[in-house]
Amino acid sequence: MGSMRMSPAEAENELIYQHIMDLEQGRYDTFSDAPFLVAHSTKLPEQNERWRSCLPNVQPYYGQSSYPKFRLERTVDTEFTRLSLAVKCNSDVHLLRSLHNMGVNFDCASLEEIRLVLELGIDPSRIIFAHPCKPVSALEFASQQGVQLTTFDNGDELDKVKAHCPKMGLLLRIFAQDGGAKVCLGDKFGAPWETTNGLLKKAKRLQLNILGVSFHIGSGASDPQAFATAVKQARCVFDEGARLGFNMKILDIGGGFQDSNFEPMAGGLRRAMDQVFGDLDATFMGEPGRFYAAPYYTMVCRVISRREQSCHAASRHVPDMLYQNDGVYGCFSSKWAESGVFAPIHLPQRRNIGGPRQKGTHRYSIWGPTCDSVDLVADEVVFSSEVRIGDWLKYPDMGAYTTCASSQFNGFSNRYLVIYGD
Ligand SMILES: *Cc1c(COP(=O)(O)O)cnc(C)c1O
Repeated sequence: MGSMRMSPAEAENELIYQHIMDLEQGRYDTFSDAPFLVAHSTKLPEQNERWRSCLPNVQPYYGQSSYPKFRLERTVDTEFTRLSLAVKCNSDVHLLRSLHNMGVNFDCASLEEIRLVLELGIDPSRIIFAHPCKPVSALEFASQQGVQLTTFDNGDELDKVKAHCPKMGLLLRIFAQDGGAKVCLGDKFGAPWETTNGLLKKAKRLQLNILGVSFHIGSGASDPQAFATAVKQARCVFDEGARLGFNMKILDIGGGFQDSNFEPMAGGLRRAMDQVFGDLDATFMGEPGRFYAAPYYTMVCRVISRREQSCHAASRHVPDMLYQNDGVYGCFSSKWAESGVFAPIHLPQRRNIGGPRQKGTHRYSIWGPTCDSVDLVADEVVFSSEVRIGDWLKYPDMGAYTTCASSQFNGFSNRYLVIYGD
């Protein structure tokens, strides 16, 4: 590679081509047609820097939630290591460790997530069990392990806490919603505003330990006003609590941040916090997921089949079809979960296998590998040359809600090879 310093993009492409060469030389056997991911450890400090400079007084708790799964990762040579668990946004233990080392705390939503984070040697005081409606088994596990903070948004949950872990610190999760968010969590969680006073009174009766308020305006949010509204409402609940004799201290502003509009969203939130909470001695925390994890992975998929249709006069305006080795039942589930839009980059052939590609604009729809017709990754993508079977397509920003949300539908593997550059 010479002594010249490569840009991060060049370094990434080097890793990708190295792996493609390994695949083409049969080093991975049955993996020769497998999609793979490249992890970027340099992106995490960048995102963390942006968070700390825009929201200096908000301690991030990295957001997650999930079920057990194992993952393949590349180590020395061709060995694969079996890892035990995954999390909602991204459970990659390298990612979790790096975040831990940067002083980020953890938002867990299930027993297995708590177990995973504790297994990394992370202190339970750095975990919030941020699920307002959880099974008793998980609540008991969390409490036994020393987790001291959880959320609730309904009266039955208070009875559960009273019966199983009456000392647990509680945040009242209030309703909040950016109607334009990719995933509107307010449809499922958050106490309606007219119920908060009743919930606080019940908590008082049960002598429970209310420490503050949390909200989540929805994942992939874009309206800073949704933050301002939620912060104002949170203040009303702080005041209701004070009248009942609670000493509330914590405002948890949830997640919802994305790479593309982080600064304006965080700026609006910060102004609202200054205005509305300026006179209180409150502690602020956040639960970012997507913002930290999305840029962490680049995904590389291989074209396994193709259907040309522009040769028929009747279908001249219909793009040709490409079939690749991962789809909406794999890492692309956000296509249907949140109308995700994907813009792959066609990696140029280095060794010109299969002859030169035709130059000029080529339009394609891109489909996943299963036999289901909803398995459509991109309705129409425009490339500057022809794409052939065996070519590779690169998808940046595939670190959030990808591997951890994949299934084995139709017998396609959801164990992904991850290449760590450093
Ligand atoms: C999903 C979730 C998060 C992370 O949300 P992002 O939009 O990915 O930042 C944080 N907190 C809770 C309670 C969640 O459910």
